[in-house]
Amino acid sequence: YKSRTSSTSLWLKQAYIGGEWLDATSGATFEVRNPANMQVIGCVPDMTAVEAQKAIDVATRAFYASEWKLITARERSQLLKNWQILISQHCTELANIITAECGKPLTESLSEVAYGQSFVEWFAEEARRIDGQLIASSVSNQELIVVREPLGVAALITPWNFPMALVLRKAAAALAAGCTVVVKPDENTPLICLALAKLSQMACIPAGVFNVITTSGAPAIGELFCQSPLVCGISFTGSTEVGKLLFRESAGLLKRVSLELGGNAPFIVFESADIVEAVKGAMLSKFRNAGQTCVSANRFYIHSAVYEDFLKQLQAQVEALKIGSGHDKSVEIGPLINTAQLKRIEAFMKDAFSRHAKVICGGKRLQEIGELFYAPTIITDVDRTARIYREEIFGPVITMAKFDTEDEVVTRANSSRRGLAGYFYSQNLQEVFRVARRLEVGIVGVNVGLASQAEAPFGGIKESGIGREGGHYGIDEFTEIKYICLGGL
Ligand code: ADP
Repeated sequence: YKSRTSSTSLWLKQAYIGGEWLDATSGATFEVRNPANMQVIGCVPDMTAVEAQKAIDVATRAFYASEWKLITARERSQLLKNWQILISQHCTELANIITAECGKPLTESLSEVAYGQSFVEWFAEEARRIDGQLIASSVSNQELIVVREPLGVAALITPWNFPMALVLRKAAAALAAGCTVVVKPDENTPLICLALAKLSQMACIPAGVFNVITTSGAPAIGELFCQSPLVCGISFTGSTEVGKLLFRESAGLLKRVSLELGGNAPFIVFESADIVEAVKGAMLSKFRNAGQTCVSANRFYIHSAVYEDFLKQLQAQVEALKIGSGHDKSVEIGPLINTAQLKRIEAFMKDAFSRHAKVICGGKRLQEIGELFYAPTIITDVDRTARIYREEIFGPVITMAKFDTEDEVVTRANSSRRGLAGYFYSQNLQEVFRVARRLEVGIVGVNVGLASQAEAPFGGIKESGIGREGGHYGIDEFTEIKYICLGGL
């Protein structure tokens, strides 16, 4: 596939509904800011349920009346491949948009583009393998056939921390399955989603198949998604609180809901671990996107025999991290996304200090760099009742604790209502198998600090979510199973 060479800018100011670029009916807009310096980098339409309804209607028409459900899987696959190629071709421009609105360092934004496009590539391939089954009947003259069909219109609500990859992880699976989508990106980071819409248009994905509405009023749109009978599925990534709200609101219509919510990942270093590798994994898991990832290591448990060694090496690397604007190529940590997030971290720290936590390094804002910068931090002696221990941190703070036995650490690791990711380092084969099976999480990283790939299922247990994205399981979220009993043969 050759892209039609285009000098079109990917910095867009309008929402994308039914193949058209639109303003809000009211003419209202809202500002998007760069968290590194708080400067306005764009204005996008502030849409309401009126435009969201329009998007649902055009997505419904595109699903039933037009090409999407009825074209062959091969054609859908080809269109997704076109999209993937265009995303790869525009990787630098896309990464710049991510860094500008989300704040993460440019190298991380480029990794996000690579990660995001890997889902489009994967689901373009999977689109051709959504097959059914023929089951042997216990009644003569009958064939039992199982087919998988697309749900219909899927509403996708995405957060700001991976503003591109999480749109693609959902949308590519939905489109591959034959669904059409309405995406509502986070109000902090709508620009990258509009850039993806532009590339979908250039890739010849038909009008109405991929729609984006921008709004600063998410609750009204969420409510419409839950209550509209035309929306057949909702896929959400974000806070546990909003996830539960959407789940409750969708119960009335028994809607298919897929939720990727917060985690509280344990990071365990056993006595047999390779400490150099464990420190490397800890840095990767903790400080990517300034700790603002749902799979980020939250609670560090280090075996007492290696505690001092691990802490010394970790501290040296934490203190060497370069902090600043993500557009500066040498920077390793950018700002937090907004004031609310900064206040949250400060409140967590205050609460931890009031319960006698000790600071090893960091533990304060870096106002001299900018409003939203927080120093990479290590704290110890964190009480188990502290909020920073019980809740998801979503910031560059490590809480460290010692342990002595496997039973003790597994019990502590599992003592959370969250169950998204968990990590541990060990070179003891039996221990690796035992602990991998005992951790109550959906994703286990053994001797790695970063486990997610397009080929593998991503998702949590307990209150971390419902369903899986990625892998061949990702398609299941957007398909229904139909059984056809063929008699009289
Ligand atoms: P965070 O606290 O990390 O920002 P949120 O759950 O608030 O996480 O945000 C994730 C996504 O959910 C964003 O797109 C946001 O606009 C959206 N959102 C927030 N509140 C609601 C709501 N009541 N209904 C639907 N979507 C919402």
